[in-house]
Amino acid sequence: MYRVRVDRRDADCQHGRMVQVQAIPAFRDNYIWLLVGEGAPPAVAIVDPGDAVPVVQTLRQRGLTPSVLLITHHHADHIGGVEALCAHYPLSVYGPAAETIPCMTHPLREGDEVALPGLPRFSVIEVPGHTAGHIAYYGGGLLFCGDTLFAGGCGRLFEGTAAQLHHSLQQLAALPAATQIYCAHEYTLSNLRFALTVEPDNPALRTRYQEAEDLRRRGLATVPSLLGVERDTNPFLRSHIPAVTAAASRHAGQSRQPGADTFATVRNWKDHWSG
Ligand code: ZN
Ligand code: FE
Repeated sequence: MYRVRVDRRDADCQHGRMVQVQAIPAFRDNYIWLLVGEGAPPAVAIVDPGDAVPVVQTLRQRGLTPSVLLITHHHADHIGGVEALCAHYPLSVYGPAAETIPCMTHPLREGDEVALPGLPRFSVIEVPGHTAGHIAYYGGGLLFCGDTLFAGGCGRLFEGTAAQLHHSLQQLAALPAATQIYCAHEYTLSNLRFALTVEPDNPALRTRYQEAEDLRRRGLATVPSLLGVERDTNPFLRSHIPAVTAAASRHAGQSRQPGADTFATVRNWKDHWSG
């Protein structure tokens, strides 16, 4: 067990609005994200409540009433608390139209918008690969990407192909460099150790690893990260970089092409990598 900072960060939102994002740690390494927006009482949304208990506890401590759940995909560690929360509070439940989500009131597809008073306007990006219907929410400079893009890594392929996940990650990689990446797990140190196996000579990666190690030693979260940092250090956003293609080719024992081919090899490499 490790301690996780109860983190409250302010983020500038479009239309000059402010939203505060707090990590609610759950299970061993999940982060459930609590968004507190504007208004009196403030607009409150919860992203991927895998467990209702720590969510209710945090809401009671802060005197908050949620009105919205934002779900990225159907895995139990992301939806396990949905039914209990819906029994506690009157909630709208937004989630992927292509997956079965309990209590879902607003099924979402690519390009849909979630426009709620007091919160940033989120656009929906379909990011299949980890699961077939996985979606991400982007708005106000924030990205809630569930198990698709992680700090220093990406999700495993459970229901999609490497080509699908590669395409999904490329869409996320095209967002502005200052986008804050709110992924759903604290996997960063292990991800960065693997990244260093792929790209031992990437100076930005070495620096990032030291910073992440320092944060974890102090019991602090490494999430959110910044998209610009991911582009410079995350091997799963770097399959077009010659050093990554070269490492994938060496690992595979045969030549790999930049892009989806390299991505598939690196994803498979990490599946069998034990650090
Ligand atoms: Zn998952
Ligand atoms: Fe998960």
